[in-house]
Amino acid sequence: MRRRTFCKTALGAAVAATLPGCGSGSKSPAADVGSFIPAVSGAGDEISIESAAIVELADNLQGHLYLQADAGYNAAKLVWNGMFDHKQPAMVVQCASTDDVVSAVTFARERDLLVSVKCGGHSLPGKSTSDGGMMIDLSQMHSVDVDVDAMTMRADGGSLLSHLDDAAMAHNLLTTTGIVSHTGAGGFTLGGGLGRTDRKMGLAIDNLLAATVVTASGDVVHASEDENADLFWGLRGGGGNFGVVTEFVYRLHPFNPTVYGGDLIYDIDKDFFEFYAELHDTLPDEANIEPNLAPGEDGRMAAIVGVTWCGDHAAGEKALAPMLAFAGLKSGELGPLSYHDLQTGADGFLGHGRQYYLKSGFLRELTPAAIEVIVEFANRGTVGAWFQHLGGATSRIASGATAYVHRDVAFNFGIMYFGDDPAQNDAGIAAVREFYQAMQPHMAGFYTNLHDDSEQNTWGNYGPNYPRLVGIKNKYDPGNLFRLNANIKPSA
Ligand SMILES: Cc1cc2nc3c(=O)[nH]c(=O)nc-3n(C[C@H](O)[C@H](O)[C@H](O)COP(=O)(O)OP(=O)(O)OC[C@H]3O[C@@H](n4cnc5c(N)ncnc54)[C@H](O)[C@@H]3O)c2cc1C
Repeated sequence: MRRRTFCKTALGAAVAATLPGCGSGSKSPAADVGSFIPAVSGAGDEISIESAAIVELADNLQGHLYLQADAGYNAAKLVWNGMFDHKQPAMVVQCASTDDVVSAVTFARERDLLVSVKCGGHSLPGKSTSDGGMMIDLSQMHSVDVDVDAMTMRADGGSLLSHLDDAAMAHNLLTTTGIVSHTGAGGFTLGGGLGRTDRKMGLAIDNLLAATVVTASGDVVHASEDENADLFWGLRGGGGNFGVVTEFVYRLHPFNPTVYGGDLIYDIDKDFFEFYAELHDTLPDEANIEPNLAPGEDGRMAAIVGVTWCGDHAAGEKALAPMLAFAGLKSGELGPLSYHDLQTGADGFLGHGRQYYLKSGFLRELTPAAIEVIVEFANRGTVGAWFQHLGGATSRIASGATAYVHRDVAFNFGIMYFGDDPAQNDAGIAAVREFYQAMQPHMAGFYTNLHDDSEQNTWGNYGPNYPRLVGIKNKYDPGNLFRLNANIKPSA
């Protein structure tokens, strides 16, 4: 066994501590468990994993394997939502290559070990971690290359949205990414991928050209319209159900990184939302208008409307003039804006480690009844809410063309609690649920990437696309190794 890699695990370090220059010399807790490590199976049963096998796995990795006693474990196991800081995977396999992913997947499958996959770690319900499982951590795999002539971008499966935006914008190009730059491209893309440019450029999946996937069998499979087209269809909206994606290839679009836009502030009232509903119906694809219902500068709840126009500025000025002319405008202005600043503006207050809880759903339209609920609950000020503006290019694709089925909706509507004091969580969660319960009758399904934990919801949410997804699951993951997600259960 090679000495360098043997020291990669606490287990290895515990044994190697007796060797000069390797290990800290202190006894690793991992060594106390003897020749087995306690873990949890996919079905949730307690299992034991042979220490020797873990050492062998670590030895063969280009990346690192962390056991609970290792110095780097506590940092490596963290996910974005601080509500899941308490989770303790049995091991974190921090992969550096597709081969590492193959080794980790094979190891877990052969032992029926519970698996989670972490890219950016932003799963709201904490699906990228577990108690007692193996976390396959892709965060070290984030190289991105742009082919300017072909207008395509290749990104490793652990890339963040900032990596994608920065690489593409360096060439005045772009593909749709989301509104917080430390979100992972992995989960984001596989669930659909909504962002400020989706009405013009389509969702992230509408720009996905190919992917490389490590399936549950440990095979490395390429997926595109021409190769394994069934898998490619499923990857575009089916989440992490079919394997670990180690590489994405996206289409890029010409893009001026200085957009036209700004924040405009209005009262949260019926007049504003009626105006917004009417405006939505008339806007060209370049316009993205997203009210964020949150406390304004004076502490009162307000509709802080993020306006982005990704096109010719003069045309934007003309199309968006009604927003400035609307009598309810309280403050704010529109003008040239750095898209980079826009994409990173929420990174701080939606940062890692805070307490978050969210429920959401799509709206086909903003009906008077929905407006009534929004105005009443948002003005209570107990929790915030936001819109993501859809339609445009996202709606000009048939609902059966990709696994993502919700092509006929106009908005994604989220209700979110966030804070820093875990003692406030129960009250925050209750407020989100109450608001959501009132909104739910007006919603038309929900965004897979913001799913809650209900299996029934997952089935229903894919509508007519669900049976096809089950068929793909049966083919690529019949044992449901990849179950920590909006899970599509195999029927085989
Ligand atoms: C602050 C914040 C802002 C957001 N903004 C947007 C937005 O603007 N638009 C939008 O569409 N969504 C947005 N989302 C939702 C986001 O798309 C999902 O939370 C998504 O799952 C995050 O991806 P991740 O890789 O960071 O998550 P992770 O927690 O790392 O992964 C989530 C799940 O995705 C799967 N997965 C991740 N990477 C891979 C991979 N390479 N291969 C296979 N499976 C993988 C796994 O099943 C995993 O359980 C936001 C979420 C947050 C928390």
